[in-house]
Amino acid sequence: MRDSGGIAVSEAMGKVAFESGGEFLRETKREVELYLSDRRTRRRGALRLYAKAPIAVGITVLSWVLLLLAGREPGLAVLCLAGLIVGAILIAFCVQHDANHGAYFRKRRYNHLLGWSADAFLGISSYAWRVKHNVAHHTYTNVDGYDDDVTQVPIARLSPTQAPRPWYRFQHYYIWPLYAFMGLRWQTVGDISALLRGRIGRSTLRFPRGWNLAALVSGKAIFATWALVVPLLFFPWWLVLLAYLVFTMILSVVMAVTFQLAHCVEEAGFASAEELNAEKRVWAVHEVETTVNFCAHNRFLTWVLGGLNYQIEHHLFPTVPHTHYPQIAKIVRRNCLKYGVRYNAHPSLGRALRSHFLHLRRMGRLGVPVHIEMG
Ligand SMILES: [Zn+2]
Repeated sequence: MRDSGGIAVSEAMGKVAFESGGEFLRETKREVELYLSDRRTRRRGALRLYAKAPIAVGITVLSWVLLLLAGREPGLAVLCLAGLIVGAILIAFCVQHDANHGAYFRKRRYNHLLGWSADAFLGISSYAWRVKHNVAHHTYTNVDGYDDDVTQVPIARLSPTQAPRPWYRFQHYYIWPLYAFMGLRWQTVGDISALLRGRIGRSTLRFPRGWNLAALVSGKAIFATWALVVPLLFFPWWLVLLAYLVFTMILSVVMAVTFQLAHCVEEAGFASAEELNAEKRVWAVHEVETTVNFCAHNRFLTWVLGGLNYQIEHHLFPTVPHTHYPQIAKIVRRNCLKYGVRYNAHPSLGRALRSHFLHLRRMGRLGVPVHIEMG
């Protein structure tokens, strides 16, 4: 195995192929389609989804304006910054994520336009996100080298097929502050270096042209303008920088941890390209078994996280609005039981966090040479 720009690429890696279809997915799809065939159900789900975009953008814009106008009052400034972070979290989970998956509208163009909220409000390229998240992560979930989310070597070892390093032994402690820098990286060098490299994981990322390039450049410019340039007209540079870092780092931790709780936990399965090619898994089964839900009955978290506590349902039906996931989960769960597919869910946030911590600790320990293991 060798490292290439922080991304592990195995020399022997071939193309990964899954079996498509399967009776489990066919029956689940049939039932989900039947559930969604009811016009009132569909409309209710869509309205609940649409209501979130103005709320998320409204909280963000209002908090930003208030922060500029009344930010000299420390208590008010902290409150406005908190509002700005909450608004951005809602945009990340409830607006751009659904839109970039194509779940908001029928037309791709409108979904991409709303998905551009990631560029303008979060400073992250929606163009690169669609390859990193929709293709690399959703197609090759927890496949080492293909899913960029679990390929963080040589910083951390998230999958058992990755080579051990002595420092991974402490990764369950040091990874948390590193999550805070993930957003900063994507806003600055991450997007650009992925575009120059031309790939994310093993998925091709073509250099954008036309509207895509205009959206990328204007998005970065708009984000830098509202997050840094305009505040500099009101406040000293160190205060602007501090607020920007707090905003981006908290948003980043919340985003990273939410995604990690679904895939980097003890109950989630992992695979290498070689393993997948040797046994040819059914894609839908692979998605369910590499994903873990959490806090399924917590309506507040479900609302704030855009249904990402129902990641199993999200991975099977990413283009369905997340407002339908709690109902779809009943169908998926029943069929998992019927077809012997492993369906994992953590009952609380605490249990999910603990499982992520224990997974990191186990991955850090595995493969450490004996003389280090023995202390
Ligand atoms: Zn997704």
